[in-house]
Amino acid sequence: MKYVDIVVPCYNEQEGLTAFYRETDKIVNGIEGYAFRYIFVNDGSSDDTLIVLKGMAQTYDNVKYISFSRNFGKEAGIYAGLEGSDGDYVIVMDADLQHPPALIPKMIESIENGHDCCAAYRTNRKGEKKIRSFFSRAFYKFNNRLTDVKIPYNAVDFRMMSRQMVDSIVSISERQRFSKGIFSWVGFDTEWIPYENVERQIGTTKFNFKKLMRYALDGILSFSVAPLKLVAVMGFIISASAIIYAIFILIRTLVVGKDAPGYASTIIILLILGGIIEISIGIVGEYIARVFTEIKHRPIYIAKESNLAKDKSGQEVRKEEVEDCEKTSSQADK
Ligand code: UDP
Ligand code: MG
Repeated sequence: MKYVDIVVPCYNEQEGLTAFYRETDKIVNGIEGYAFRYIFVNDGSSDDTLIVLKGMAQTYDNVKYISFSRNFGKEAGIYAGLEGSDGDYVIVMDADLQHPPALIPKMIESIENGHDCCAAYRTNRKGEKKIRSFFSRAFYKFNNRLTDVKIPYNAVDFRMMSRQMVDSIVSISERQRFSKGIFSWVGFDTEWIPYENVERQIGTTKFNFKKLMRYALDGILSFSVAPLKLVAVMGFIISASAIIYAIFILIRTLVVGKDAPGYASTIIILLILGGIIEISIGIVGEYIARVFTEIKHRPIYIAKESNLAKDKSGQEVRKEEVEDCEKTSSQADK
């Protein structure tokens, strides 16, 4: 028997969770030779997600949950689930059934064929807002050009991974996590399988424009120092142009004589330079902010409660320790 953990980050998903469990379990129940367990991560939901999860955990043995003390973001949710998992394989998927569970048998087949990982990508973005698709496409193009980690356009966070790969991901302890980049960065042999986009049936998207922009920025800044290099190149180009212009002015003054008017050119140069300096400081600042956040070594998430610990040997060890203590104290009494 092989054990598979299904990690599901959930943020205000109270309406959809039972449907998610029902649909997914229908598929995985029929797969022979594999036992499935769910690790739901309640990412500080403000609705009744936790109550629903607790109810499910009471009804079904294979439902586990970790509940955060506040909203730490999907990336932290994925991390907590992976860290809490101990199956031979781990599947990461969304709670809203936009990641079709029907792909799971295909993923298992791919892993059995010797791949370390099987990941899904959408063949289209039907039903998504045009503006989101446009920015998303631009981001992946830009990201793949700038950074060493190549992420296929349309890749989603739906994948099955071997224990070894999961352990490598968990060993990366950076705080500002961009999972898609980390999945790619750790390497391993990944097979990509396509699926038709599914629109969200229950609930609404938890990613607004600002969150998506932050996500894109995290993606680029976590995996590339190209923007810093760009600042240096810009500085070099501006300095070189300035020298050429200075020589030109000098020669013209010597030949033609003094030239008082020049307000327009002066002010334009001043404004452009000012703008470029501001942008440069902004870029450098973003990196410093990242160093600042990382150096504090705060935990990636804080779990308030969980029913996972019961499964781990932690409690057993504690019981033995107590017994050992009792033995020693009774010996001391003698
Ligand atoms: N999610 C989360 N924390 C957040 C935002 C989202 O755990 O702060 C979860 C959410 O519950 C869902 C998954 O991440 O299971 C994907 O979110 P969503 O469906 O809203 O994103 P979209 O499909 O629009 O990209
Ligand atoms: Mg979704």
